[in-house]
Amino acid sequence: MLDMTPKEVMENRHITINPCKTCEPVGAMFCALGVESCMPHSHGSQGCCSYHRTVLSRHFKEPAMASSSSFTEGASVFGGRSNLNTAAKNIFDIYNPDIIAVHTTCLSETIGDDVGSYISDMEIPDGKTVLYASTPSYEGSHIQGFSNMMIGFMKYMTKKNGEKAGKTAIFPGWVNPGDDRELKRMAELMGVDYIYFPDHEGILETPMTGKYKYFPKGIGTSAKDIQELGSVKKLIALGQLTSVEPAEYLEKQHKVPFTLLPMPIGVSLTDKYLMALRDMSYQEIPQILENERGRLVDLMLDSHSYTYNKKAAIYGDPDIVYGFTSLCIEMGMIPKYVITGTPKASFVKQIKALFEENGMNSGKAVIKADTDLFYLHQLIKNEGVDILIGSSYGKQIAKAENIPMVRMGFPVLDRYGNTIQATVGYTGGIRYVEKITNVFMDRQDADSRDEDFDVVM
Ligand code: SF4
Repeated sequence: MLDMTPKEVMENRHITINPCKTCEPVGAMFCALGVESCMPHSHGSQGCCSYHRTVLSRHFKEPAMASSSSFTEGASVFGGRSNLNTAAKNIFDIYNPDIIAVHTTCLSETIGDDVGSYISDMEIPDGKTVLYASTPSYEGSHIQGFSNMMIGFMKYMTKKNGEKAGKTAIFPGWVNPGDDRELKRMAELMGVDYIYFPDHEGILETPMTGKYKYFPKGIGTSAKDIQELGSVKKLIALGQLTSVEPAEYLEKQHKVPFTLLPMPIGVSLTDKYLMALRDMSYQEIPQILENERGRLVDLMLDSHSYTYNKKAAIYGDPDIVYGFTSLCIEMGMIPKYVITGTPKASFVKQIKALFEENGMNSGKAVIKADTDLFYLHQLIKNEGVDILIGSSYGKQIAKAENIPMVRMGFPVLDRYGNTIQATVGYTGGIRYVEKITNVFMDRQDADSRDEDFDVVM
């Protein structure tokens, strides 16, 4: 397994091996699935659309619905205007969504298809919307595609309105449906009247009823809520790299001030989210949340002897990697390698600042953006770690180097139940402190001599 990975690190190689990201349209498709009665539409060839749907379906263990402009040779040479017109007509005739959210692919971007003008010339049925976002895959990652599609929705749907109502907008960033449920539960416990965008709760985790509905009513962010985003008094944007551009767009176009926060993972980052909610409602923190926080802190203290000074390699999307770096520091661990495949230079600055806030020396860690898992494997071959924390794509490294692994982030393709449970909030923290501690205890059991092997630990 990965026997040919050399120890010698090549810094300037012009190739990506075992990527730590997927392409922009995956993010655009995921974002659009979080809007009520919306069909994500891939403007390109069927192969791209199949790949994007497959990776989402395998992560969520649910069908990820989307349509395609189905480019063949003609559209690839002469442009995809007629393909898009035919596709939109067929989608409205057959599936009848309220919104079609078009994203581009490498092919349509390369030939320079002017999708904006195609849509403005299109005959769109009354009461329906067709919108689009540019998502060229040769820049950014699925995280950028997610941000671009959020902005696409706001560009086409959010109404100009100088009057500010009492609502708060919450942008959750790239999270699982279980996280959406938890973030909304916390907002409700704090008495915040909110608009939540996008919202995957109930969409990529459909309860088994025996009947499949393409567009279940009341599930996902409604068109009305997206229209009203321009009227909210304040925005809480979670995920410093995923939500910053949509937040800046809403501020620039609709004068909505925003608070940008990290993804609330662990104690201190969840505290920040809770304080931002309190600033919106001026309510006391309810006892139920205080108790959850207390249980998380207690669990960290109880398990500290198993996690203290353990070295971790954390990899994946930038915002969740930031959150898990903070959680590992809270658990007394040492984040040794902190990497993302997403090309955002500010990631490195943010992680270094996090180290400094916690009185740790970032110079002893390797922190890198726009890199791959081949590089991470080379680092580990030179100096090992006690645990890998990241997506399923690290499992070959875990097997090759015999290192325990905890799965988190996107995609998790080889485990069930992950996406319907929370990673964020105090409850998500409890879940992951348990997971991380238990892999260390399993390793201790597996490695211990018979005379040291004990039921009580
Ligand atoms: S060709 Fe581009 S858009 Fe299509 S799957 Fe590959 S990277 Fe993604």
